[in-house]
Amino acid sequence: MMVSAVVPCYNEAAGVAELTDRLAAALEPWAPDIEIILVDDGSGDATWQEIGRASDRHKAVRGIRLSANRGHQIALTAGLEVARGDRVLMLDADLQDPPELLPDMMAMMDTGYDVVYGVRLVRHGEGIAKRATAHLFYRFLNWLSDVPIPKDTGDFRLVNRRALDAVLAMPERSRFVRGMFAWVGFAQIGLTYERQPRRSGETKYDLAAMSRLAWDAITGFSSHPLRIAMRMAVFCGFLSVALILYVFTTFASGNTVPGWASIVTAVSFFSAIQLFVLAVIGEYLGRIYIEEKARPLYFVSGRVGFAKKPMN
Ligand code: UDP
Ligand code: MG
Repeated sequence: MMVSAVVPCYNEAAGVAELTDRLAAALEPWAPDIEIILVDDGSGDATWQEIGRASDRHKAVRGIRLSANRGHQIALTAGLEVARGDRVLMLDADLQDPPELLPDMMAMMDTGYDVVYGVRLVRHGEGIAKRATAHLFYRFLNWLSDVPIPKDTGDFRLVNRRALDAVLAMPERSRFVRGMFAWVGFAQIGLTYERQPRRSGETKYDLAAMSRLAWDAITGFSSHPLRIAMRMAVFCGFLSVALILYVFTTFASGNTVPGWASIVTAVSFFSAIQLFVLAVIGEYLGRIYIEEKARPLYFVSGRVGFAKKPMN
C-alpha cells in the first residue's frame, strides 16, 4: 500500500527542511512505498530551492511548482491530482498539524473509514481574533450550508483513493476542499488533536483571505442565500396585505392627507411583487449554478458480486 503526503507551500522556505524530515520519519513505517508531494504555490522566497534540497535528502520527496500563486485550496488540489498513493495525507507546511498523528489516522482508517479528518481541540499560538472568527465561521457555515461540514476541521486529513478520486471528479473552479470531502460522503470519522503554533514564517490567511474562503464555502455549498429573497417576499406580501387593510380603515375614517392611501398601497404591493420576482429569478439562478458545476451525481461506495476488480 502506497502512502502519499501532500503539502501546499507558499513562502515557507524556513520550514521545508524540518517539515520533510518529520514527514519522512512519520511515513517511515510504510517505506519505500511513500511519497511526499510539496506544491510550491508561486512563492516569492526560496521555497522552491528548499524543495529541491529536500528532494536531494529524501528520495520520497517530489515537488511541483505552480506558475503563480493560486491560493491554498488550488495548490492543495494540484498536489492531490499528482499523488499516486492508496492513502493520502494532506497537511499544512507550517507543522501546525503534527505529522506524527499519521499512525493513529492509519489505524483508524484500517477499521473501515474512507476519511479520517483532524478536529482541532485547542489551537495553540493563534490569537483570540483568529480563534473567534474561525469558531463563528464553522457554525455560520453549517447553519447556511446544505452539507454538514465537520466543525473545527481544516484540511488536515487522511483519505483513501476512492474518497480522493470522488473529490477530484468534482470539476468546480472555486474549491473548498474540506467541504468537498464532506460532500462526497463515504465513511468518515474525526480525530481530535491539538493544533500547534506555526514553526516558522507567518500566517498567509489574513482577514481578506479568510473572507474569500468563507464566501467560497457558503456559495459553493448552498443556495440558501438566494432563497432568502423568497422568504422576504412572503413576509412582505403578508405585511403589505396588513398595511393595505390599515390604509383602508384609516382612509374610511377620513383622517388622511390626499394621496397617502394610494401611495402606501402601491408601494407596499409593488415591493412585495418585486421581491417575489427577484426570488423566482434567484431560484433559477441557483439551479443554473448547481447545474453548471456539473458535479458527479453519486459515487459508488460498495460493490458486491461483480468481477474481482478491487475498488481501492
Ligand atoms: N498556502 C498556499 N498558498 C497560499 C496561502 C497559503 O499554499 O496562497 C499554504 C501555506 O503555505 C500553508 C497552508 O496553505 O501550508 C496554510 O496556510 P497558513 O498556515 O498561512 O494558514 P493558517 O494556518 O494561518 O490558517
Ligand atoms: Mg498555518
